[in-house]
Amino acid sequence: MDLHTTPRLYVPDPLAAGERVQLAPGQAHHLGGVLRLAAGEAVRLFNGRDGEFAGRVAALKREKAEVEVGAALRPQTPEPDHWLVFAPLKRDATDLVVEKATELGVARLVPVLTERTQAARVNTARLATIARGAAEQCERLTLPDVAEPVRLAALLAAWSPGRRLVAALERAGAPPPPRGLAACALLVGPEGGFSPAEVDLLRRHTFVEAAGLGPRILRAETAAIVGLALLGA
Ligand code: SAH
Repeated sequence: MDLHTTPRLYVPDPLAAGERVQLAPGQAHHLGGVLRLAAGEAVRLFNGRDGEFAGRVAALKREKAEVEVGAALRPQTPEPDHWLVFAPLKRDATDLVVEKATELGVARLVPVLTERTQAARVNTARLATIARGAAEQCERLTLPDVAEPVRLAALLAAWSPGRRLVAALERAGAPPPPRGLAACALLVGPEGGFSPAEVDLLRRHTFVEAAGLGPRILRAETAAIVGLALLGA
């Protein structure tokens, strides 16, 4: 069995050898309908707490699947406490940001509503499903939390100052994002950027640190990916 090509699945249940766990309908459909697995075949499981386990499909029928948990493969290890606070974009761009941020290891995704945010509503359940798929695929041992959308002023008012908020600001002559921060968050604006009033508001908070991502104006989704890569490097 080649472990690297064995499907990986997130389950919420406790994991220990000999347990049986049910998969979500979408996961069952993916295994049976897309990957064409049958009962008896190998999978991997993680739950964000107990590490990664081998598993074997015990029963598989349309939207229902049961997996028998086998041996532990990897212990749970600490993951970076980096968040992404992002203005929701058009649907495809938002999906891309959620997928890439998950691959880059973010612990929490926070949609923030700004003056120039175009997206009318944010389907956080959908974003959580995208994050789960990305986490399963990229071999991380946790899922990122997906927060409910919050207005920028409310986010700043409730922020705990121990967590640096690294604000990606174009044309501000700011240095690149700092590396090696333990608890921090990257803030990226919408397609139209932050308004001057929002930039002033950000700069009034001592936990906010402006960061530049180079001389070109990046699309918001590019800024999120590059900023997270630099923060995590
Ligand atoms: N329409 C705006 C640009 C917005 S870019 C304008 O032309 O002025 C969208 C978001 O990406 C910005 O809010 C910022 O958070 C981030 N961003 C883009 N390019 C950046 C850069 N060079 N440095 C830092 N942040 C950047």
